[in-house]
Amino acid sequence: MILVLKAGREPVADWLAAFAAKMPELEVRIWPDVGDRAEVDVLFTTRIAEGEVARFPNLRFVTLIAAGADRLLADPGIPASLPIVRSVNPQRATTMAAWVLYHVIRHHRDFAAHEADQADGRWQLREYLPPGRVRIGVMGLGDLGGAVARALVGLGYGVAGWSRRPRNIAGVEGFAGPRRFARFLARSDILVAILPFTPDTDGLLDARALAALPRGAYVINSGRGELIVEQDLLTAIGSGHLSGAALDVFRVEPLPADHAFWAHPKITMTPHNSCMASAWHSVDVVIENIRRLEAGQPLAATIDRAAGY
Ligand code: NDP
Repeated sequence: MILVLKAGREPVADWLAAFAAKMPELEVRIWPDVGDRAEVDVLFTTRIAEGEVARFPNLRFVTLIAAGADRLLADPGIPASLPIVRSVNPQRATTMAAWVLYHVIRHHRDFAAHEADQADGRWQLREYLPPGRVRIGVMGLGDLGGAVARALVGLGYGVAGWSRRPRNIAGVEGFAGPRRFARFLARSDILVAILPFTPDTDGLLDARALAALPRGAYVINSGRGELIVEQDLLTAIGSGHLSGAALDVFRVEPLPADHAFWAHPKITMTPHNSCMASAWHSVDVVIENIRRLEAGQPLAATIDRAAGY
């Protein structure tokens, strides 16, 4: 079993150390020194150039180290039968939950105003609602959205979730499917989007959806930039219908220097780093799937090609 790591900006030595510790018998080659491509069974990679995967004729599966599957699925050269394994790991979910919690709390407790008060030397009490009266809607209840919803429940917020199929998470009011979308939006004072980018989610948060949110709602997006129609978001904030947004992902990344988001006083941004995939945890899904292959069992955490995520 040979695995090729595609070295991007990632600390490759950490990945190698994790594989060596957890599956020493694995032969790991590092891109671009992959030798005979026909010998490679598994590809463990960050974003990879279009057409590149197809040049490995005997792959058993591909695992993306960090990115969502959307870019890989867009590659027409990838055989439909090639399993794509999602990079699920607990640290990814906890760091994502921390990023979302930070923005929820920052907004709910008006910490930006407190920072401005301090800068002005002003002692200013600012009232805030008890968490149970703040209604948060989490779009996407998968590995990441599920962890976020549970963390918000733990802080006492009023949490609802929206997914394609019904999901049952303790303390979370569940909404599923397009027919329940407007109802879900209408009860979301803070909307958290952690959906994958698929044909169904492309531009989902457009003027109509944003208008369905309660007046003064706040939008947080750490799923994919394509979920939001950016001009519609700007318009909704400009009109006062929305109070602002916290964004980690954008349609074009890096965000172009002249983009209106940069200087917007009601938009807070991070450069697509809301969650972190540690090498130690990320190799587990690869190792588990190699063991499954060897045991003739079905692979775990694979992408549903038809659903697009
Ligand atoms: P999962 O596949 O585990 O979960 C996806 C969730 O989205 C599921 O609950 C799914 O519903 C729901 N969903 C998908 N399509 C629809 C739809 N059309 N309508 C309603 N719900 C839908 O993914 P993860 O939680 O692991 O990751 C989610 C996304 O986060 C990734 O696809 C990626 O784009 C993004 N991401 C962002 C990162 C960042 O750094 N900002 C890092 C990593 C990922 P159901 O439960 O019914 O399947």
